Amino acid sequence: MSVYFHEEDLPADALGPGPVAVDTETMGLNPLRDRLCLVQISDGSGDEHLVRFGPGSAYDAPVLKAILADPNRLKLFHFARFDIAALQHALGVVTAPVYCTKIASRLVRTYTDRHGLKELVRELLGQDVSKQQQSSDWGAATLTDAQRDYAASDVRFLHAMKDILDARLVREGRMELAQACFDFLPTRAALDLAGWPEIDIFAHS
Ligand code: MN
Repeated sequence: MSVYFHEEDLPADALGPGPVAVDTETMGLNPLRDRLCLVQISDGSGDEHLVRFGPGSAYDAPVLKAILADPNRLKLFHFARFDIAALQHALGVVTAPVYCTKIASRLVRTYTDRHGLKELVRELLGQDVSKQQQSSDWGAATLTDAQRDYAASDVRFLHAMKDILDARLVREGRMELAQACFDFLPTRAALDLAGWPEIDIFAHS
């Protein structure tokens, strides 16, 4: 189990087949304003890959883009909406198909309003992930060991959590509802980028 660091794109043979867990780190929460600094990706084998984009990057990352857009490869996220928007804005690629552990959690863990990654990993897997580096300078010339560990841990547990959440979605009869939500996510992200970030377009007023 290792963390691999790359600049500007993923090597061609980095990932095995099957679903990949993906996360991003940016300069902030506004994808139109805040540049994409890091993409973390894992095939679930225990290794995590970090792809760092420098200031002024051309975001010319053909290997990474091909994986994100591959219709035969599911991309797992926690709060996919933000990452899809960040990836679309920076790389110009629509990430699909996707799975979001936060949406799955909201659909089955109706006994709580705590759907953050840390809480979900703790309850479902009994593991502890630190969120200490969440708000740190991801644009720095050199990422600290603590930042790299944190970034990698954000994609480390998504495969295992998907298995558990899928079983619960089936148990509660909400798998089709979840799938429809996942399928809508690229459109939701496009609405965020197009100027409807905090408006519920389904709301009456
Ligand atoms: Mn993260």
